[in-house]
Amino acid sequence: MTSTKYIFVTGGVSSSLGKGIIAASLAKLLQARGYRVTIQKLDPYINVDPGTLNPYEHGECYVTDDGAETDLDLGHYERFLNTPTSQANNVTTGRIYQSVIEKERRGEFLGKTVQVVPHITNEIKERIQILGKSGDYDIVITEIGGTVGDIESLPYIESVRQLKWELGDDALVIHLTLIPYLSAAGELKTKPTQHSVKTLMESGVSADILVCRTEHELSRELKDKLALFCNVKKEAVIQSIDASTIYDVPNLMLEEGLDVITMQKLNLTNTTEPNLDHWNAFLKRHKNPKAEVTIGLIGKYVELQDSYKSILEAFIHAGAENEVKVNVKSIHSEHIDAANISEALKGLNGILVAPGFGERGIDGKIEAVRYARENDLPFFGICLGMQMAVIEYSRNVLGLKNANSIEMDPDTQEPVINLMEDQKNITDMGGTMRLGAWKCSLAKGSKVAAIYGKEIIDERHRHRYEYNNAYRDQLEAAGLATTGTNPETGLVEIIEIPSHPYFVGVQYHPEYKSTVANPHPLFVSFVKAAHENSK
Ligand code: GLN
Repeated sequence: MTSTKYIFVTGGVSSSLGKGIIAASLAKLLQARGYRVTIQKLDPYINVDPGTLNPYEHGECYVTDDGAETDLDLGHYERFLNTPTSQANNVTTGRIYQSVIEKERRGEFLGKTVQVVPHITNEIKERIQILGKSGDYDIVITEIGGTVGDIESLPYIESVRQLKWELGDDALVIHLTLIPYLSAAGELKTKPTQHSVKTLMESGVSADILVCRTEHELSRELKDKLALFCNVKKEAVIQSIDASTIYDVPNLMLEEGLDVITMQKLNLTNTTEPNLDHWNAFLKRHKNPKAEVTIGLIGKYVELQDSYKSILEAFIHAGAENEVKVNVKSIHSEHIDAANISEALKGLNGILVAPGFGERGIDGKIEAVRYARENDLPFFGICLGMQMAVIEYSRNVLGLKNANSIEMDPDTQEPVINLMEDQKNITDMGGTMRLGAWKCSLAKGSKVAAIYGKEIIDERHRHRYEYNNAYRDQLEAAGLATTGTNPETGLVEIIEIPSHPYFVGVQYHPEYKSTVANPHPLFVSFVKAAHENSK
């Protein structure tokens, strides 16, 4: 292929239409035809990255191999494409302005007045083209966060306008919009879409393809009407009907011909049919489970699905791998205590104690760990969940009643979870945790070594506190094995109880690396253990 092709995905009418899933599905289809595709998300908020955002604000913060704290849509991109993303795949307004202001301070603008156009838009255009210019991709899909017409998105839409002009046939715009159904009138309505396409045009950008989110089938007549009013070809009006799983969307887009119309517009001539064999085999297993398990997800952001997005998706991948349906029951850790724990965890085949920050809800998490340990209930602890397991073991097996994490009690007498040495002088909150992929060597003969089937693994991290090695001998002697450590620093990454059917805690976040093509081995083995428990 000669030049990189750029696809922009904008949103109209309403937020939460699933731009990320549409972008990932189109990317999947193009990848399945042999193209090298990547997806980028531009977020119009002023935070430099979502790392400092509360999960209630923006859902989970997704972490890449290179340690970027990013939007959760990057998780979808990786889960669909099975290729890693990086800092370059997520850009925020905060980062754009930070970079422009730093250049201004260095005098790089040579005395010019620094303005939104051209300085901010140039910075945006540069960030969009970084991936294309790397030579690693044939196609770059850029998802513009927010909804057309938002004040915040204006510089991004202006950058798209300029790039479309400069790139000609190498760029196209897909506008994702909503066709609401008015039940009182019994009709699907096109007017909101007409208005949002018009808003886009006021900024000088015309949509090449319309993807229409809808709860009901769109008739040919309605599609033709949309084409006429919105200046797009009839075959460029694509229906995106509600699906029972996001993993159905690539096939739905294939049926609608989204990939074909995209390729036509970009003069891509590849005629190979997309190979979705592996994807469809996964879907078949996902939809035809032979058994069912229920796993308790113990956390403090459980009201919001998006807070634990990658964990929930990893369970879907692992469930399909085991041909088991995984029901995830969310349990708020603030609502459990020693008195109600057996009632709260009744009927569960395993518990996952979630990652998190701060004191709120930790007593419930510790109680849940104790219950799982004492009752041979499969336990999987991630990050804070692993730290809670160390505290629980120290308190209830070692008898160190005051064992705690420095995060929860800076003056604790028994800091079994300590602040990492290189964190001690850090005052800034943003981007300063131990982030990204680090190596971990697994102990021979351990459960995790058998699960991974290798000695050295690479997993992604996001934490400030760590297992305190001063307690390692005591804890090991009492039966809490340390079976994964960083080969350079000796930092403990994995704990397990060898005598328990499944008791594994990890300091890293395995959920970030689970994809449809590669379900994460720890989730697969945990679901398997839960299945055993259910028998
Ligand atoms: N709060 C803990 C730490 O900073 C755990 C972080 C997490 O669960 N991601 O170490």
